Amino acid sequence: MRTRISVATVRGEFIQQVEAISGVNLLACNQCGKCSAGCPVGFSLDAMPNQVIRMAQLGVEAVLDSETIWTCASCLTCVARCPKGIDLPRVMEALRQIALRRGNDHLCATEIDPELIAEAPPTGNHRRIPKIHTLTWGTHEHALLPRLHAVYQGRRL
Ligand code: SF4
Ligand code: SF4
Repeated sequence: MRTRISVATVRGEFIQQVEAISGVNLLACNQCGKCSAGCPVGFSLDAMPNQVIRMAQLGVEAVLDSETIWTCASCLTCVARCPKGIDLPRVMEALRQIALRRGNDHLCATEIDPELIAEAPPTGNHRRIPKIHTLTWGTHEHALLPRLHAVYQGRRL
């Protein structure tokens, strides 16, 4: 896909909005890739975390169509690995917020098959994390995420 980048885009409203919501300086990212290398759900992403922030820092609004912003488990692994101290989960959240404000809802928790929810691991000590977030945890063989994707593919409202 060819993307045209201009000074107007890079200084545009979209980037300002992402930075205002997330509190992250997008241009601090030097694309080292450490976030993507350590992401535990990287196997199921359609855009790796470093690609998400690259699109965001260049004002490529197609990033809002990425499954990755909804798949990110907010596990903070990338935050721990980032040599530039970038809080990628905050960027993901900002992108979700912008997508939702544009009416681009993605997943209705009440429509999730209760049997699938029942398979989710217990919340354990992470009681403040909604149980739906724990669906993204697990080994590759047991991860529920790809199955959730299959169930909800095409259900974007
Ligand atoms: S680890 Fe940090 S600096 Fe490196 S690509 Fe990811 S967000 Fe950018
Ligand atoms: S917070 Fe999201 S992007 Fe970062 S490592 Fe965890 S799942 Fe991957």
